[in-house]
Amino acid sequence: MLNNWAVVPTCLPLVRRRCHACESERFRASGKFRVNAHHKLLDAWLLALCSVCEETAKLTVLERINVQSIRPELLDRLHNNDPGLIAQVLQDPAVQRRNRFSLDWEGAWRLDTGGPDGLDDEVVDVSVRFAARIPVRAVRLIADGCGLSRGEVERLIVEGRLVSGVRLGGRISGDFAFTLKR
Ligand SMILES: [Zn+2]
Repeated sequence: MLNNWAVVPTCLPLVRRRCHACESERFRASGKFRVNAHHKLLDAWLLALCSVCEETAKLTVLERINVQSIRPELLDRLHNNDPGLIAQVLQDPAVQRRNRFSLDWEGAWRLDTGGPDGLDDEVVDVSVRFAARIPVRAVRLIADGCGLSRGEVERLIVEGRLVSGVRLGGRISGDFAFTLKR
């Protein structure tokens, strides 16, 4: 029986970035964009707040872009502080590189397994889908989903009874599948 699991975000991840006002290294999205048009050029930032001192950081989204080259739909979403766009911008690798931040997903995701049906079979095939690129430890994910301890999962890997096309030793952030043989 094939089991389908999903890793899904439950809230926005935190932004890993050093605060200049205090020693904190975490910011949260404020829920607001700031848009500034000068002549025909437009800048847009996503505002983030330090999780300790509330200092504001501006994360560059658009920099001196000709207004006419921006899709009207995107402008509307910026002006309306569209929550979907905020999530999308935070996860955009280009925005992360430009603003030199990574994301902290701790406590911001959950694993949906669809219940324990089929997990007691002799051979269990599980397909894991990621709704967002959330880096999670494969061992922790499998342990949680199968109701095993991490030590048990590690032992099953060593014994060759838990196999996958990807390396299960580290973090995984994209779709993968594994087979568990009891
Ligand atoms: Zn701060």
